[in-house]
Amino acid sequence: MTQFTLNDDQIAIRDMARDFAARELAPHAVRWDEEKHFPVDVIRQAGGLGMGGIYVREDVGGSGMTRLDAALIFEALATGCPSVAAYISIHNMATWMIDRFGDEAQRQRFVPKLAAMEHLASYCLTEPGAGSDAAALKTRAVRDGNHYVLDGVKQFISGAGTSDIYVVMARTGDAGAGGISTFVVEKDTPGLSFGANEKKMGWNAQPTRQVIFENCRVPADNRLGAEGIGFKIAMAGLDGGRLNIGACSLGGAQAALDRSLAYMRERKAFGRALTDFQALQFTLADMATELEAARTFLWRAAAALDAQDPEATRLCAMAKRVATDRGFEIANQALQLHGGYGYLADYGIEKIVRDLRVHQILEGTNEIMRLIVARSLVGRSSGN
Ligand SMILES: Cc1cc2nc3c(=O)[nH]c(=O)nc-3n(C[C@H](O)[C@H](O)[C@H](O)COP(=O)(O)OP(=O)(O)OC[C@H]3O[C@@H](n4cnc5c(N)ncnc54)[C@H](O)[C@@H]3O)c2cc1C
Repeated sequence: MTQFTLNDDQIAIRDMARDFAARELAPHAVRWDEEKHFPVDVIRQAGGLGMGGIYVREDVGGSGMTRLDAALIFEALATGCPSVAAYISIHNMATWMIDRFGDEAQRQRFVPKLAAMEHLASYCLTEPGAGSDAAALKTRAVRDGNHYVLDGVKQFISGAGTSDIYVVMARTGDAGAGGISTFVVEKDTPGLSFGANEKKMGWNAQPTRQVIFENCRVPADNRLGAEGIGFKIAMAGLDGGRLNIGACSLGGAQAALDRSLAYMRERKAFGRALTDFQALQFTLADMATELEAARTFLWRAAAALDAQDPEATRLCAMAKRVATDRGFEIANQALQLHGGYGYLADYGIEKIVRDLRVHQILEGTNEIMRLIVARSLVGRSSGN
């Protein structure tokens, strides 16, 4: 394929995910948000369709697809519910980390159930005192015979309390990025517990909790890769994760734009349909143009990651910022075009705005995306 044209397989993948979103997600999204319901049964159905290990190798049950395929799938899923789509994207990121950095025994042990979404996964990097500066994390993993003993608290962990598998970055060595290792921690491990479900502005169809380790003994066999490469593993996961979150913003924005158009054809003001006002037509034209520009750029970054281009990290950071900023602005414009009705929960537009807002914050804030790009331009200075 070229970067700008989808082949027949990609169109089929996208349509499959769109159908699933229209049938299984969209009709329930407003209620799940209101009831703060995490629809695990529906998420497992997505696993049955190959969406649990999209870019994971096929010998352990993955779908063996590309990052561009994943971007198509997450955009399509987010047209139904950005919150559920985003959780599935985090699950895919964590599953890929085990497939990519795990040894053969770990791959065979953990990945098949994750790819099928019989098991769900969470990604545990952020801590109360270490968000943007993730390499400052303090959760310790101290070697004790055939185990590591983990102590510390992870903050804002998506899916926590429900997920079966926690991919955890913890300190095994000195301060800084080089002292971090990655562990797979299973839900029933003694010493692992969870905080209360956070009350949030959006993303209410998935739980966000602290993950707490107190004298939590994890088998040494559960360490992914060598000691000290955990930060590298965490950042490698996030390159793809950022594309996926960007794609979720595109899907939410596309749904908001489509709904705006349908609404404006029906809604009358001053004796005319809203679509008859040229000022509003221009707003729609700008929304569609910005969305297409962000999508095209996201596909470019996804193709770079697929090609293992040395520029991929920078392009993924750029694309995440553009897609999540434009996605939020488009959704917010859609709310404006709905007038007062856009502000009502039943219309589903304000939910999209609330869901998309957090995409500008997580998987690295958009300031941190600028920092990554700026470092690639001017180098690392003491200020950064
Ligand atoms: C709903 C939700 C779900 C999440 N899910 C997960 C998850 O599953 N797993 C996980 O590990 N984490 C998760 N996170 C955490 C998320 O990744 C962090 O919130 C994010 O990285 C920012 O960290 P922080 O909140 O500590 O903000 P801080 O790091 O305290 O930043 C505060 C502000 O300062 C800015 N800032 C900080 N440093 C700089 C700098 N050097 N230059 C310029 N500006 C800077 C930031 O951009 C931000 O605007 C989630 C967060 C939320 C809200």
